[in-house]
Amino acid sequence: MPEFKILIVGAGLGGLSLAQSLSRAGIACEIFERDNAPFDRPQGYRLHLDGDAINAAREVLTPELWRLFEQTSQWTEPYTTILGTDLSVIKRLPTQDDLGDVWPATEASARHANVDRATLRQILLAGLENRIHFAKAIDRYESSDQGVTAHFSDGTSVTGDMLVGADGIRSTVRR
Ligand SMILES: Cc1cc2nc3c(=O)[nH]c(=O)nc-3n(C[C@H](O)[C@H](O)[C@H](O)COP(=O)(O)OP(=O)(O)OC[C@H]3O[C@@H](n4cnc5c(N)ncnc54)[C@H](O)[C@@H]3O)c2cc1C
Repeated sequence: MPEFKILIVGAGLGGLSLAQSLSRAGIACEIFERDNAPFDRPQGYRLHLDGDAINAAREVLTPELWRLFEQTSQWTEPYTTILGTDLSVIKRLPTQDDLGDVWPATEASARHANVDRATLRQILLAGLENRIHFAKAIDRYESSDQGVTAHFSDGTSVTGDMLVGADGIRSTVRR
């Protein structure tokens, strides 16, 4: 039986997370990214990740990459702290609803993380090097009996069984 192939457009956090997940499940995918290289443009500084995002990372990453994620994350306390002008603590507001008996929380109960965006992206890129095609901006796609064909602005095209638009907030695929 021919291999089922998923085309992912966009190598941002979403597209790369999906690619990691598919890769772990042994499902073929190829990623097409408009930028010329992984770190072609600055993409921000740090990201706050809540419990859902952390669980998603644990699910999609291999154990080795998850360990790297843990080691490169700053595990934050589960509350927002308001300091006075002399830096004394005025108030601590929980950032999760279900602290229950563990309030006031300890660092061990922290379920929020702060990560360097470029580092996270580097972790998500690991192992996918041969599946990512840079300088591939999708213009349009069309469906046929053979599957779905993505057409890129450089005049090339590729056909797969499914196309996922992970090309961000101004998605060409969605449009
Ligand atoms: C200032 C700022 C701060 C933020 N802080 C946080 C935070 O602390 N915590 C948090 O969880 N979220 C935060 N976010 C939101 C987070 O950045 C987004 O939710 C996340 O980046 C979305 O991932 P994505 O993969 O869907 O899209 P993106 O990360 O935007 O990736 C889309 C990718 O598609 C590529 N692309 C675009 N068009 C095409 C095309 N035509 N063909 C091929 N490729 C294309 C782009 O080059 C890009 O690489 C923040 C966002 C901003 C702007």
